[in-house]
Amino acid sequence: MTTVDPDELLTKAKAPVLVTQSSMPPMEEYFAEIASLWDSKWLTNRGEKVRSLEAALGEYLSVKNGTLFANGHLALETLLAAMDLEGEVITTPFTFASTTHAIVRNGLTPVFADIKADDYTLDPAAVEAAITPRTSAILAVHVYGGLCDVDALQTIADRHGLAVIYDAAHAFGVERDGIGAGTFGDASMFSFHATKVFNTIEGGLATVKDPQVVERLHKLQNFGISGPERVTDVAGNGKMNEFAAAMGLCNLRYIDGEIKRRSVVDAQYRANLADVPGITFLAKQRGVTQNHAYLPVRITEDEFGVSRDRIYEDLKQNGVTARKYFFPLVSDFEAYAGKFDSSDTPVARRAANEVLALPMFSDLAAEDVDRITTELLNLHFEGRV
Ligand SMILES: *Cc1c(COP(=O)(O)O)cnc(C)c1O
Repeated sequence: MTTVDPDELLTKAKAPVLVTQSSMPPMEEYFAEIASLWDSKWLTNRGEKVRSLEAALGEYLSVKNGTLFANGHLALETLLAAMDLEGEVITTPFTFASTTHAIVRNGLTPVFADIKADDYTLDPAAVEAAITPRTSAILAVHVYGGLCDVDALQTIADRHGLAVIYDAAHAFGVERDGIGAGTFGDASMFSFHATKVFNTIEGGLATVKDPQVVERLHKLQNFGISGPERVTDVAGNGKMNEFAAAMGLCNLRYIDGEIKRRSVVDAQYRANLADVPGITFLAKQRGVTQNHAYLPVRITEDEFGVSRDRIYEDLKQNGVTARKYFFPLVSDFEAYAGKFDSSDTPVARRAANEVLALPMFSDLAAEDVDRITTELLNLHFEGRV
């Protein structure tokens, strides 16, 4: 642990620590990037910044056919619309509201399958068991930047003629054996929300395997307009604006350093809490790079001594905001009351009750990490007596 002066620790204890903090480029650099917009006066509708960012991201993520959106949710919702799905979509309840809402808002029926206990991604066996004659797709989530079992899911999908779509909102820059996360399945969505590893303030990217879908995405993100005097689809507005894209162009120059600094924070948490019974860190996957988007720990109350909720409250009292991410399960949302039973997905339900995302961002100070882990150790020792 880093040594700290006790007095300093007391003063520090008053400074709140949030669960995340947005990365921003140097202000002058952003100003320089947006200056040309005062010449072009072209602020949206697939302008120069959006096109350059699509090209730059294509290279960085090793993906083809990327289309930028105003946010990740609209990218996902529009992707599902562009793929002409029908009936049921098998998905995970251990995710952010967006994943399921995108299915439902397209008039499709979500069917929840359970997840794996080690990496919280969809369990392929549970997916296969959930298939019915009405199933048209699998919508899986690369939770916390850990990859789904993409090979097993693809095999199942091929066997049953299903589309595979990934919510890759957490998986920016993640690669398996040099292959970008956005190249698996038929399509993927990345989120560039302010709280994500890479941000465009608000923004998202849809990547697709079939280049013909790209044309549809451009149309569906712009009211279904096909030409100056033709409107062929009923669709909303999902376009990214030039100021957001300019933020992305700047942030992309710093992304490798950003992820590197997050890895240092991650390593400090792991070192400080190594061998504490009842705390499990996210397992590293073979051949898969990590982006350190989040710092989820699983608290097993029997072994740790106190519950996840008690830790959450205690940290809050001490000015540290952690996040029960994801709680509640989507199947327990009031919005879906009476439609699902979360006891059908016991592994997911247990994860929702045991996982706590601790503060994680590139500028998180080493003293703050120490303060958080010391608090956890204190709770553990208290819980044991
Ligand atoms: C952030 C997030 C989204 C939505 O992205 P926005 O850009 O905020 O619209 C969807 N799914 C998951 C898993 C997310 O974390």
